[in-house]
Amino acid sequence: MTPIRNIVILTGAGVSAESGIATFRGPGGLWEGHRVEDVCTPQALRRDPELVHRFYDERRAKLAEVEPNAAHRALARLDAEWAGELLLVTQNVDDLHERAGSKRLIHMHGELKSALCAECGKRAPHEGSLPPGSACPTCASPALRPDIVFFGEMPYAMHVIERALEQADLFVSIGTSGAVYPAAGFVHSARRMGIATLEMNLDPSEGSMMFDDSRRGPAGERVPEWVDEMLG
Ligand code: NAD
Ligand code: ZN
Repeated sequence: MTPIRNIVILTGAGVSAESGIATFRGPGGLWEGHRVEDVCTPQALRRDPELVHRFYDERRAKLAEVEPNAAHRALARLDAEWAGELLLVTQNVDDLHERAGSKRLIHMHGELKSALCAECGKRAPHEGSLPPGSACPTCASPALRPDIVFFGEMPYAMHVIERALEQADLFVSIGTSGAVYPAAGFVHSARRMGIATLEMNLDPSEGSMMFDDSRRGPAGERVPEWVDEMLG
């Protein structure tokens, strides 16, 4: 076994669950009471922009009521103290990793506190509600939309993530169901490249069998334990 120097960590909605943010596939397979197809696709945005914008306005407003939990804090501590390469790739659109202090962080599915211009493609930090037709600060088109990567759209920074995986000795997946691609495929890439793989999740995920090691339990307990192990 080569000593571990470079780490890629993938997080999903499960890491924020103990902060009080609902996971994706809650009761009945709904996200906060909505079918995923109604709030997470380019078609939904075209069909009912009011609904889709309001949905993300509510998610954005909720951020003011929640705090990072022990898992976010432990990952921020690992980032601060880990001497090797480290990349935290989150599928989450909340801002809890950065509020906990993580710096080497990529939001591959976008961010609630950002707006994307459908006209010029520029992204800009955004607070508060974002009604359809809001003007882009760059090109002035009334074309701002939530900066969320919908199904069928390309996640952000895929080349950076792929390069980090190529350099990694360990791939860790935390609180994700392994149902959303391409993130769900990172473990396959890691295995192909001979990288060690570890999963931490409350329930067995769709990809659990793919990992060398799979630990069950709440992220707020498993992640601080693992970070203690890593920092010795
Ligand atoms: P998911 O809801 O499909 O899966 C969450 C996983 O976390 C499940 O396997 C569940 O067993 C596990 N889990 C639940 N509570 C946990 C806990 N306390 N500790 C550890 N694990 C726990 O979420 P996903 O795989 O991230 O995919 C959903 C997509 O939905 C993502 O792309 C994301 O952009 C979006 N989403 C984001 C947020 C957020 O930003 N917080 C919330 C909901 C959905
Ligand atoms: Zn623009």
